[in-house]
Amino acid sequence: MINDQETAQQSLCLSCGLCCDGTIFGRVQLKADDILGPLKSGLIQIELKGTKTFFRQPCSAYRESCCQIYEDRPTNCRDYRCELLKKYEAQVVTWEDAQEKIRRARKLREEISATLRRLTPGRDDMSISAVLKIVPSPEELRRDQTLLKKWGSTLLPLSALLDCLQSHFKSRKSLPE
Ligand code: SF4
Ligand code: SF4
Repeated sequence: MINDQETAQQSLCLSCGLCCDGTIFGRVQLKADDILGPLKSGLIQIELKGTKTFFRQPCSAYRESCCQIYEDRPTNCRDYRCELLKKYEAQVVTWEDAQEKIRRARKLREEISATLRRLTPGRDDMSISAVLKIVPSPEELRRDQTLLKKWGSTLLPLSALLDCLQSHFKSRKSLPE
């Protein structure tokens, strides 16, 4: 049975998806009991590294603003609640405030994707943690003005998005993988 808390979560999350589309996380680690469901659906490509089993984001089960394996979603997905959702459920943040923060984060993500379409064609939907791995370091940017010119239009929305995520969506302890 869906209770009030689940209904509040579902309605806010349906308008968001930032923890599924690669904005907040670069990958999702699986637990032993999770393997069967996602594998059966065939939607998610499971990867192994050492003892860790995970899949990358953007999650391929996230389509049309919904999780296509919602009933079988992995434990970490089931358990995750961002700070914004917790505050909304606790009525610290209103629906309108929550929507405004989600809209801002999504708009910044779209701006980043638009610049990536030009810089890295075909990889414009990569996760933000993957973007952070390819952007030049501050030192490289200081040394090479052409790099600054090339990446400037990505770095501005990227920096604003990281601030937005850190301020409204993440607990201080949870940083993206
Ligand atoms: S980031 Fe928060 S509000 Fe958005 S879908 Fe995930 S848990 Fe829901
Ligand atoms: S399995 Fe579902 S809940 Fe988990 S990241 Fe993918 S779309 Fe989101």
